Amino acid sequence: MTGEFARAAIVSVGNELLFGETVNTNAAWLGRALAEKGIAVSCGYTVGDSRTSIQDAVWRATRSADLVLISGGLGPTEDDITRNAVADLFERPLQSNEKLLAKLRDRFHAHGYREFPETNLSQVEVPEGAIVLDNPNGTAPGLAFEEDSTLVVMLPGVPRELHGIFLGDLSALLEEWLGDRMAPVHHRMLHTTGVPESRLAELIEEAISSDSAFASVLSEVSLAYLPDLRGVDLRITSRSVSTEEAKASLDRAEEELDTQIARWRYHAISGDIVESVSDALKDLGLMLAVAESCTGGLVTKRLTDHPGASTSFVGGVIAYDDSVKVSALDVSQQDLSQFGAVSEVVAIQMALGASKRLGSDVGLAVTGVAGPGGGTKEKPVGRVWFAVVLNGEERTCSVDFLGDRDAVRERAAQAALAMLLRTL
Ligand code: ATP
Ligand code: MG
Repeated sequence: MTGEFARAAIVSVGNELLFGETVNTNAAWLGRALAEKGIAVSCGYTVGDSRTSIQDAVWRATRSADLVLISGGLGPTEDDITRNAVADLFERPLQSNEKLLAKLRDRFHAHGYREFPETNLSQVEVPEGAIVLDNPNGTAPGLAFEEDSTLVVMLPGVPRELHGIFLGDLSALLEEWLGDRMAPVHHRMLHTTGVPESRLAELIEEAISSDSAFASVLSEVSLAYLPDLRGVDLRITSRSVSTEEAKASLDRAEEELDTQIARWRYHAISGDIVESVSDALKDLGLMLAVAESCTGGLVTKRLTDHPGASTSFVGGVIAYDDSVKVSALDVSQQDLSQFGAVSEVVAIQMALGASKRLGSDVGLAVTGVAGPGGGTKEKPVGRVWFAVVLNGEERTCSVDFLGDRDAVRERAAQAALAMLLRTL
């Protein structure tokens, strides 16, 4: 294949991938790793451990791509037939590689085995003319050869081994082989939370049709909306080949988009709003305590997932039953009876209680109806109250979330963190 930019195809081999026993993480990982290098993956095939299926997929892949990456079936067992199938397809007889044999023997002896297992001999066989790619994490090496100006590469299926080979020898080979035909893609992520994808798209469409400057800046890039339970990420992609030009158009697009999304936007390299919350607490020199009911510790879990959490987080109370809201957070029994656990009054008292009992500057509380049961006409499933107390000031809000129990809890935890961030 020729063309301005190199295109890749991925062939994933293994019955377990078709049965759904193993998720094809190799294809996803390779897709991302290749994109980072500026090589677009144009197609992918997943086939079982069958000689004809492997040969058929590899043959098609070589027709359409400059680089074909095959994963799986390079091991020593009988079901590992990729090496043979591919070698036969291109009429490259397998030859035992002396260096590999010596290395494998040493490895076995180093592990205390006296006998060298016969079955492992297949792993030192190399198709004629192939380059051996070192496997720093296992015994089956990667194998690469050029076929009709397409680079064909075989990699073991074990993810750790595939990663090791790719990041080592294969990266160097790709630079050498396709260096001038890689077109790095320039992305930028803008993170938002608390606004539906459709509303964001509407706002941006409106700005495009009413503001020609906005429209012209946006026309230099492409925009993707990536929603999940926690929020919507906007991915801006520049088509420019030059890194400087790409950066300039991404900067312009980010500035324009910010005018529309600032209310919901947060900044985090990891994409997690916790990073942003932790930074804000640290900058202000504040310590946080949390009281959770319906989220059952999810907010606390997320806060403590972040390395270095202890500099801004003291702890949390999971006050699920009303009796714990009273005993551990000093929530008034009378208010609980009068207003119910899912109420503004109780949310405030939970936040105050957490902050007082745990000795923090800031208190954050979440109490709601996660479902599927427990909803009423006045308090439907999905209703969640939030409270933040800071320096004697109280802030509250309530949201009716859609979705099943998991979705309500995940969304509520995210909204609690977002409310805290905005208060700070
Ligand atoms: P081995 O030497 O271990 O036999 P191999 O190259 O023969 O390696 P496979 O036998 O196909 O690889 O797979 C080994 C293991 O790697 C499988 O048990 C599976 O869990 C995992 N694996 C294989 N293919 C993939 C894939 N595409 N994505 C994620 N995991 C995979
Ligand atoms: Mg195997």
